[in-house]
Amino acid sequence: MGKTKRHGLVLVNTGNGKGKTSASLGVAFRALGWDWKVLIVQFFKGKWTPGEERVINKYNLPIDYKPFGSGFTWDENNTDKIKQECSKAWQFAKEHILKADYDLIIIDEINIAMYYNTIDVDDVLYTLKRREKWLHIILTGRNVPEKIKEYADLVSEINAVKHPFEQGISAQKGIEF
Ligand code: ATP
Ligand code: MG
Repeated sequence: MGKTKRHGLVLVNTGNGKGKTSASLGVAFRALGWDWKVLIVQFFKGKWTPGEERVINKYNLPIDYKPFGSGFTWDENNTDKIKQECSKAWQFAKEHILKADYDLIIIDEINIAMYYNTIDVDDVLYTLKRREKWLHIILTGRNVPEKIKEYADLVSEINAVKHPFEQGISAQKGIEF
């Protein structure tokens, strides 16, 4: 389907259960099958280089993966640094939304950044509204703000029924990262 016939969607993966980021990666995988250009902007990079970043590099996949916010601890003494990194991540994502140089943009954990007011929800909303009509966006993370929920075309809330963490089982390679 050409861009003119495409109806760009805003999808939100939220809730307390596991699967928000991995579901968005499933869509990225699917989009590759249609030769789409995919961008993943990662807020709050963790301590491991995740499998998704490895596979993109290993097989030279045409996905641009851009992590932000690594190299410091996420405690209260670091709020300035956290704000700075979130703001950088959002400016980067915003630039590409407005440039419309990708078919699918995944903004991973942006909901958390909005929830903690490290980026401006109204700016995100305004930017989403101004985007090209064919551009698909996926926003992930817990606690999506109400305004974003209202504007989105699709909101999936994943509930945690059980999680191995509750049994003291640590994050497993290939499953969690
Ligand atoms: P995934 O990346 O596996 O799709 P997610 O994006 O839904 O998970 P996040 O909210 O980004 O999950 O959480 C990051 C980490 O927290 C993951 O390693 C995940 O397994 C873990 N996690 C998610 N839900 C729970 C839960 N209910 N209890 C404990 N840990 C959880
Ligand atoms: Mg996640």
